[in-house]
Amino acid sequence: MASDLQSIVIVGAGAAGYAVAEGLHSAGFKGAVTLVGEERDEPYDRPPLSKEVLSGAWNRERAALIGAKRAAPLNPRVLTGVRATSLDVEGHRVELGNGESLDYDAVVVATGVTPRRLEQPDSPNIRVLRTMEDSLALRALLVDNEPRLLVVGGGFLGLEVAATARGLGATVTVVEPIPGPPLASRIGTEAATKLQAAHADHGVEIHTGLGVASLDATAGGGPVHATLSDGTTVDADVVLIAVGSIPNTQWLEGSGLEVANGVVCDEFCSAGNDVWAAGDVASWLHAGYDRRLRLEHRTNAQEQGLAVARNIIGSAVPFTPVPYFWTNQYDVRIQVHGQIVDIDNNKIIEGDPSEASFVQTFSVSGQVTAALGWNAARLMAEQRRQLIEAMGP
Ligand SMILES: Cc1cc2nc3c(=O)[nH]c(=O)nc-3n(C[C@H](O)[C@H](O)[C@H](O)COP(=O)(O)OP(=O)(O)OC[C@H]3O[C@@H](n4cnc5c(N)ncnc54)[C@H](O)[C@@H]3O)c2cc1C
Repeated sequence: MASDLQSIVIVGAGAAGYAVAEGLHSAGFKGAVTLVGEERDEPYDRPPLSKEVLSGAWNRERAALIGAKRAAPLNPRVLTGVRATSLDVEGHRVELGNGESLDYDAVVVATGVTPRRLEQPDSPNIRVLRTMEDSLALRALLVDNEPRLLVVGGGFLGLEVAATARGLGATVTVVEPIPGPPLASRIGTEAATKLQAAHADHGVEIHTGLGVASLDATAGGGPVHATLSDGTTVDADVVLIAVGSIPNTQWLEGSGLEVANGVVCDEFCSAGNDVWAAGDVASWLHAGYDRRLRLEHRTNAQEQGLAVARNIIGSAVPFTPVPYFWTNQYDVRIQVHGQIVDIDNNKIIEGDPSEASFVQTFSVSGQVTAALGWNAARLMAEQRRQLIEAMGP
């Protein structure tokens, strides 16, 4: 263990930040650890926010972040409701919004992302979804009202909310500018087509190849009038803007750190000069793929946080995970291991897309690089094992 390390500051008290603390505890780190988090809530997990919390199946306590419990024996100092405002890399110091500053031997940037917004009027009925507060506010608008919901953006978040909102009785329309079945670039055409059909079966109207040209609403509330890129109009009681996100790096301006779609890190997740990054905000060089990645996946936040903790204390192991994400919509669970990128072939290896369950592999030049399971959790462990083996040490 690097013996000169006495004080570690982790900025961002989400999944990645707590995973760093958990990793430091597992490695037997005995120095001082401080977590700085802008949110005031008890630490919680985000995936349930578009699913179980939004539907009402779980209360906020049930969505508690398990990593916070695992990190507890380390006894980190946790500053909640406090924003880091700047980083002095040379001076090894983080400035905080409450006027305090924290000196460190190593600092981890784990500040996540913020939802991208459109040019949109100020209205309580036009929402984004990232935080517990966002989820509970959106739920309050959807529950018991049978509202008309317009979801702008047919990505994972938009489609998960569409599915949950149907369960709450909303009438749901989704618009997505990219033509073709939504998510095809992320899950392949077969699964995307089947998913689009599942939404149609549940009464969700999905319009692809159409963006939103303008939104009109009043600050006091009331219906939102959307004009789409083809000139048609949609009136909605609630609008969810789900058009991607922006890494939270504004506070690093002037620090001298390289920021380009996230904090630019090497293969060890180091941004240089005792600065590290983990989770949604980190753009690191994946040595196994020889490509820079920034992943907004829950499992990555955990794995990268643990890897950063090990590397801070001296392991020097490149972070080369087989990426993994899942999405749950209605009674469908889609899981993807690896990356569906630059694919030149694919094969259904179990079941069939016309059936309730199937497994598909994707390959580049004859090498399988990803596997997708549609309600096939039991079969995916073996697929993952093979992908890890193919990645090599
Ligand atoms: C609704 C929703 C559903 C999701 N569902 C899935 C899913 O089904 N499957 C999946 O794989 N992934 C899913 N994800 C993605 C997953 O939740 C994220 O990848 C994961 O939470 C990232 O963790 P993080 O710690 O990097 O970022 P975050 O969890 O965002 O934590 C970062 C924290 O840093 C704080 N912060 C930001 N700036 C500052 C600052 N300057 N000072 C102090 N604190 C700051 C933020 O307020 C935040 O609390 C979902 C995400 C959302 C929002």
